[in-house]
Amino acid sequence: MRDPRVIEGEVDAVRIEDDRLSGVCLRSGAVVACQALVVAPRFVARAEVLESLGFVVGAGLTEMAVDGHSIGTYVTAEPTGATTVPGVWVAGNVVDPRARVISSAAAGLTAAGAINAALVAEDTRRAVADRRVAQENPRGTDRSGSSPRADQDLATRMRDARGDGL
Ligand SMILES: Cc1cc2nc3c(=O)[nH]c(=O)nc-3n(C[C@H](O)[C@H](O)[C@H](O)COP(=O)(O)OP(=O)(O)OC[C@H]3O[C@@H](n4cnc5c(N)ncnc54)[C@H](O)[C@@H]3O)c2cc1C
Repeated sequence: MRDPRVIEGEVDAVRIEDDRLSGVCLRSGAVVACQALVVAPRFVARAEVLESLGFVVGAGLTEMAVDGHSIGTYVTAEPTGATTVPGVWVAGNVVDPRARVISSAAAGLTAAGAINAALVAEDTRRAVADRRVAQENPRGTDRSGSSPRADQDLATRMRDARGDGL
């Protein structure tokens, strides 16, 4: 746009004539004629559902500004999508108001990879803990009812499933 006219003031209403936009009415009472109106949206993260998962939405939302103009809010997270709540990952517009379809999908893939890694790590932690219990009580069984042999089999299966030896 070249040589744009800048009119200061707060818009109070739009003026419609013959079912068509004809102008905007300012609070000052002035009417500015126009045929089209473009409004910059403000993207607010719909993070309420995260509250039920332990996320403190009020404290957890961050304002995003571009050239000093607020374009919306987002949930703060690690690059993997991990939030401050253990076990809760986010991806897409909720973590970046500027994201588009392709970047949202990519963030979803990144989060999925991180979630998978976290689940594997958790399984491994449990298997190792159970194995330690089993080693301390070689003739007994651990709290989950598994045997040292079963723990060994589980550890082997997990290692083979990953294919990289973990
Ligand atoms: C008007 C417009 C035009 C756009 N045009 C383009 C374009 O041309 N190209 C492009 O790449 N990107 C475009 N985008 C951006 C693109 O749509 C988003 O970046 C993308 O959809 C973000 O994906 P998402 O999965 O993060 O969120 P969304 O696609 O918004 O998906 C979030 C989903 O979660 C649901 N949801 C929210 N809260 C709850 C809840 N409590 N319980 C259950 N479900 C819930 C919502 O209903 C929604 O279906 C456009 C966006 C808009 C608004």
